[in-house]
Amino acid sequence: MADVIEYEGTLYRPPSEANSLILQATIGCSYNRCTFCAMYRDKAFRMRPIGELREEIRWARKHMGPDVRKVFLADGDALVAKARFLEDLLQELRAAFPNLSRVSCYASPQSLQVRSVDEMAKLRELGLTQYYLGVESGDNRVLEWLDKGVDHDEMVDAANKATAAGIKLSTMILLGAGGREGSLEHARHSARIINRIQPRFVSTLVMTPVEGTPLMDQAERGEVDELDPVELAAELREFIAGLQLKGSIFRSNHASNFLALKGTFPKDKHALLGVLDQVLEDPQSAHFVPDWLRAL
Ligand code: SF4
Repeated sequence: MADVIEYEGTLYRPPSEANSLILQATIGCSYNRCTFCAMYRDKAFRMRPIGELREEIRWARKHMGPDVRKVFLADGDALVAKARFLEDLLQELRAAFPNLSRVSCYASPQSLQVRSVDEMAKLRELGLTQYYLGVESGDNRVLEWLDKGVDHDEMVDAANKATAAGIKLSTMILLGAGGREGSLEHARHSARIINRIQPRFVSTLVMTPVEGTPLMDQAERGEVDELDPVELAAELREFIAGLQLKGSIFRSNHASNFLALKGTFPKDKHALLGVLDQVLEDPQSAHFVPDWLRAL
């Protein structure tokens, strides 16, 4: 039996998976090209051997007991792994943890293009019920600049396959990715793409150049406009104003944000706009997270 779960390299997970058991079903990201993303640059993509994962599940069952409720499958796009491998893994998890309520993973647009609706529906029945999808923008100019590998329509088609399979989607938009001149266009197109997807969860992150990324190289050449907190608040206001959601939870609680907001759509839309209007009217009294407290 494994002595402990040993994670390879730096482990990343969404804020809402803080209390989940994390298993590295795959290592790295099979796409690994988004210009802003440093998470898996040092890892060659591969699937973990199912035998190693079985051992880790046995270890977790022995040391955490049978009451594990949530599992997150790392790394960057575990959904791209073979459907049969994921089925085996989910069956192992169900057998070890009978009270499991949710298994989730990151899903790149490319992994959603690879998986069929039937495969995703079968995996959902086995417990893989939620995907985190970095939509980043609805603006084709921005998606191309970020090298997401899909345009607006392709992103919507990929996301809608997951929805058709009964998956809950948690989507992320990258504030600031349109630069200063393109800020409002980025916000408007991002609202439009989120409206077309109607995800269960929508959150914002703030684009921040980090070491080892093409975005950082561009920033060092002076080619990136980084928006200040007030400009980001204006962009977020435009984004929220454009959202027409039937039942979604909004969060800006990722550590990269300057403003931590939350609400449920459609109920809280006007309250969120009110908060942002106040910030924009009187930025001095706004409670921005200081730069040194933000985790990038
Ligand atoms: S698909 Fe996700 S994990 Fe992979 S490079 Fe892009 S942002 Fe990073």
